[in-house]
Amino acid sequence: MKKIPLHIRIFIGMLLGIILGILSIVFHLGPFVTDWIKPFGTIFINLLKLIAIPLILVSLISGVSNLKDMSKLSRIGGKTLSLYLITTVIAIVVGLIAVNSIKPGNFLSKEKQMELSAKYANDANLRVTDAQKLKESGPLQVIVDIVPDNIFGSMSNNRNMLQVIFFSILFGIALIMAPEQKGIPVKNFFDGVNEVILKIVDIVMHYAPVGVFALLGALIVDFAGDDPKQALELFSALGIYAITVLLSLALMVLVIYPLIMRMFTHIKYKQFTKAILPAQIMAFSTSSSAATLPVTMECAEKNLGIKEEITSFVLPLGATVNMDGTSIHQAVTAVFIAQAFGHDLTIVDQLMIILTATLSSIGAAAVPSAGLITLVIVLGAIGVSPEGLALIIAIDRPLDMCRTIVNITGDAVVASIVATTENGFQKIEPVN
Ligand code: ASP
Repeated sequence: MKKIPLHIRIFIGMLLGIILGILSIVFHLGPFVTDWIKPFGTIFINLLKLIAIPLILVSLISGVSNLKDMSKLSRIGGKTLSLYLITTVIAIVVGLIAVNSIKPGNFLSKEKQMELSAKYANDANLRVTDAQKLKESGPLQVIVDIVPDNIFGSMSNNRNMLQVIFFSILFGIALIMAPEQKGIPVKNFFDGVNEVILKIVDIVMHYAPVGVFALLGALIVDFAGDDPKQALELFSALGIYAITVLLSLALMVLVIYPLIMRMFTHIKYKQFTKAILPAQIMAFSTSSSAATLPVTMECAEKNLGIKEEITSFVLPLGATVNMDGTSIHQAVTAVFIAQAFGHDLTIVDQLMIILTATLSSIGAAAVPSAGLITLVIVLGAIGVSPEGLALIIAIDRPLDMCRTIVNITGDAVVASIVATTENGFQKIEPVN
C-alpha cells in the first residue's frame, strides 16, 4: 500500500482534532480531553520549541558562512530585509483600508463594550504592564535589547530570538573572515550539526499528525469553556471585527502574495500553496512562527526546491522579524478599538500606525499572543487607551492562529523571490 504523504496525514489530524473538540463540547467530555489528549499536543509544541533555538543558531551560522563572501552576504541580506519591510508595509495598508471601509468598531454596542472591558480588564492589564516595561525604557532600548550580554542567557529563552539571530550572524561573518584553514573545521562542524538538527525535525514531524490532532481538540474545548453558548455570543459580538481581520489576512494570501509571486518569480501560486501547506497547518495549530520554522524550512527546501544556502538565511530571520499577519492584525485592531471608543483618527494617526505596527511586528516574538503585547505600543502612539485590549482578548487565539499562517507564508514568498534572483533553486521531485 502506498504510504499517505505527511501533509495529508497532518491535515487529517487537524480535521479529526476539530471533530473531537466539537464532539467533546456536545457530550461534555471537556475534562477528559484536557487530561488525556491535551498533553500530547503540549509534548508536540515542546518538541518544536526545543529545536527552535538550536535550529536558528546553527542554520544561520552555516547559512551566513555558506555565502562565502561579504559582498554576497550584504546583497542577499539587503534584498531580504528590504522585501520584508516592503511586504510588512503593504500588509498594514491592506489592514488599514479594510478597517476604515468596514468600520467594525461602530457595530459594537455600548453595553457590549462595557461588559467586555469589565470582564477582561485583568488580562488586559497584564499585557499592558508587559508592554509598559518595553516602553518606559527609552526609544533606543529596542535596539539595545538586540545585543545580548550573554549568549547562553539569550539561548535559555525562546523570546530572545533576535539576540540569538544577532549572535549567529556575527559568528557567521567572523567565520567568513577567519583564516581558511582555521575556519574550515568550525564550518564543517556547524554544517554537520545542521544536518543532525534537520534529522531531528524529520523525526518530530512523524509525530505531527498526532500533535496537531491533540492541539486542536484541546483548543476548541478550552475556547468553549464551561459555557459554549457564551463563546458563541462573544464571537457574534466581535464578529464584524474578526471578519475584518480575516478578510484582510485573506486578501494578503489570496491577492497580494499571488501578485508578488507572479511579478517576481516563475513559481505558480497553486504549486507554492501546495508546497507550503504543511507549514501553514503547523502555523495554524501552534500559533507560533518559531515553532513552525523547522517545517517552513523543510517545505521551502524539499517542496519548493529552494537551496539551503537561501532558506537557512532568509527563513530563520523571517520567522522573527517578518510578520505580515501580525502587522495586519495590529492595524485593524488599533483602528477598531479607536472606533469603539469613539476616537477619531487623523491621517497622521494612520501614518503613525504604519510606522509603529511595522516596528512592533519586527519586535514581536514568534510565539502565541506576542502581537497582543506589542499592540499596546501602537495604541499608545495614537493616543488610545491600552485598556481597549480588553475588548478583543477573548477572541485573540483563533485570530492568532490565522495571522501566524500569513506570517510564515510571507517568509516563504520572500525566500522564493530571493531564490529566483540568486539562482537559488535546485532540481526537485514535484510535490504531489
Ligand atoms: N503568534 C504570532 C507568531 O508567532 C505572533 C503574534 O502575532 O502574536 O507568528
